[in-house]
Amino acid sequence: EADTPKKVLILMSDTGGGHRASAEAIKAAFHEEFGDDYQVFVTDLWSDHTPWPFNQLPRSYNFLVKHGPLWKMAYYASAPRIVHQSNFAATSTFIAREVAKGLMKYQPDIIISVHPLMQHVPLRILRAKGLLKKIVFTTVITDLSTCHPTWFHKLVTRCYCPSAEVAKRALKAGLQPSQIKVYGLPVRPSFVKPVRPKDELRRELGMDEDLPAVLLMGGGEGMGPIEATARALGDALYDEHLMKPIGQILVICGRNKKLPNRLLSIDWKIPVQVKGFVTKMEECMGACDCIITKAGPGTIAEAMIRGLPIILNDYIAGQEVGNVPYVVENGFGKFSKSPKEIANIVAEWYGPKADELKAMSQNALKLARPDAVFKIVHDLDELVKQRSFVPQYNTT
Ligand code: UDP
Repeated sequence: EADTPKKVLILMSDTGGGHRASAEAIKAAFHEEFGDDYQVFVTDLWSDHTPWPFNQLPRSYNFLVKHGPLWKMAYYASAPRIVHQSNFAATSTFIAREVAKGLMKYQPDIIISVHPLMQHVPLRILRAKGLLKKIVFTTVITDLSTCHPTWFHKLVTRCYCPSAEVAKRALKAGLQPSQIKVYGLPVRPSFVKPVRPKDELRRELGMDEDLPAVLLMGGGEGMGPIEATARALGDALYDEHLMKPIGQILVICGRNKKLPNRLLSIDWKIPVQVKGFVTKMEECMGACDCIITKAGPGTIAEAMIRGLPIILNDYIAGQEVGNVPYVVENGFGKFSKSPKEIANIVAEWYGPKADELKAMSQNALKLARPDAVFKIVHDLDELVKQRSFVPQYNTT
């Protein structure tokens, strides 16, 4: 039996909020740590294994989230327990058979949910099939502070919380201390490797080697006021007296297809590099001195590991609200919705307030948890080993 690989099923959904990033980080860490001992599958239960209209959930999320007020309504309307419990019960009977087929196809030893809507239905199915003692079911929470109550389910073996704030909420929701582990948000293993020298990275990315650089992005989708912020930076980082730039910008547009061309058509006074979706985020961050982004948990955790002070310019209602005080109160970043104000903060950091930039960078590094993903996969490995000693019983 030792020769057959154990199977891990990660349940995620492409609904922003770092779910995909965390799923991929866990998959990569399993491979790095255990090689062929584990086979990892990542699936979107909603899109792949539910009938219409449930399989439209990710798509409607992408619509709702781009229309802020609508998403806000959906998020808060589903927060009270009584609402989502009855909702899940109804949903569950309707889709359980399909989801069960989807789950069983993989024959997993471990199921990891990295999404707030993937606890209730799968756990109901496992309970109904008597598989709760056989399959390790865990949740990896991807919100740094405030989070939707549907993340917490008492039947999980483990609930991995990225911060003490989230662990507190888990306890309040009725989870036992033994179910909760606080290792940090899983970030892809490439972030743990030492950074290459800044000038080398800048050269490879086509940037100026010497000018201080700001990374500008908006999550995987390239959301938020990126263009307006880039324009404001273009003014603020140009010294009119000396007639030369005091800084440069690296813009990452992610999956936003229209943005690169718009940015490339602008006549810049300072060096600006524009990229689409990048796969080596650790190198882009390593080439810069600070970052402007929406309050996505993945990007925040990664920037902390690189010691980049963060200016948050936007957040998704509900799930990302709590990430703002997390950054500001922990002293490694600022929040502003005004592109002009943001550009001025950066200009000061690259001028008279260099000390503030340095202090914030150190605060970020102090709280960063680059090894979280490794701790999570090793804990899971332990759980599976313990589970193999449990006598297998047949229930229906
Ligand atoms: N990302 C990336 N390449 C890009 C843009 C984003 O790899 O071109 C990654 C980023 O490093 C982070 C994730 O996508 O790991 C975005 O997660 P976050 O939680 O910040 O926001 P989301 O897009 O999930 O709302």
